[in-house]
Amino acid sequence: MAAADNGTGNGLFPSSEMEEAGRRPLTPEQADKLPHIHRLLLGYYGQPKRREPRDPLTQLIYSMMASRTKTEASEAALRDLQRAFQAGPGNWEPVRDAAVRDIERAIALVTFPEQKAERIKLLLNQISARVGELTLEFLHKYRTDKIRSWLEQFEGVGPQVSAAVVNFSTLRRRALVIDANHLRVIQRLCVVPRGNAELTEERLMRLVPETWDAEMLDEDHMLVKLHAQTLCVFSDPKCEGCPLLKICPSGQRNMAELQLTAPQ
Ligand code: SF4
Repeated sequence: MAAADNGTGNGLFPSSEMEEAGRRPLTPEQADKLPHIHRLLLGYYGQPKRREPRDPLTQLIYSMMASRTKTEASEAALRDLQRAFQAGPGNWEPVRDAAVRDIERAIALVTFPEQKAERIKLLLNQISARVGELTLEFLHKYRTDKIRSWLEQFEGVGPQVSAAVVNFSTLRRRALVIDANHLRVIQRLCVVPRGNAELTEERLMRLVPETWDAEMLDEDHMLVKLHAQTLCVFSDPKCEGCPLLKICPSGQRNMAELQLTAPQ
């Protein structure tokens, strides 16, 4: 059974009214949409383990490696990279100065290690040239939007990576990391109209309660990602036992199709 995503709108905002809705106060239903999903996921999966934030540069290196790679493999690759070059937080110069092929060998567990090795080396060199030293600690002084646009000037750093750096690292700023897992769940739930990760983050942030701080946004991301990897998987989502079925148009469609095709 494949989940049929609804690309035409959502249960909260007609697509054409979404931008306008961003400038209007939210209705009580809109304001409770994300907290409601959060409560249901929390009730089903329990409290996720709190993250130990990394320094911003280590988080940036990790996030550059992590795309399209399972979390365990990315974590192992970061450990391998640190071990191979005696590098780590506050000391990434040995990786910057290493040969691309040696970096590639150290991060062999991630997808596309050759491309990622080249980008990491280039990035570390560019940061050294711009900042005068290899650190991102100075970012603590800046506003979140300034930090994200500064990071996104580098090749390979898009909104997903910049959101991860500001939210997951010791910068601990408000941002929602919309990776492929998070995007899939949000699109199936039709929370906001379909769009790319950047647009989806922008639209979701309008629904995020003011009271949700960086840690809460991180927790929300962890719950949605866990759900995407457990029940709301890419093909054949397990809608029948899903705690979100009652509020999920795609899941209800899937269940209706199942009933139609079941032998009488
Ligand atoms: S019901 Fe649950 S598992 Fe099924 S598509 Fe919706 S969120 Fe995903």
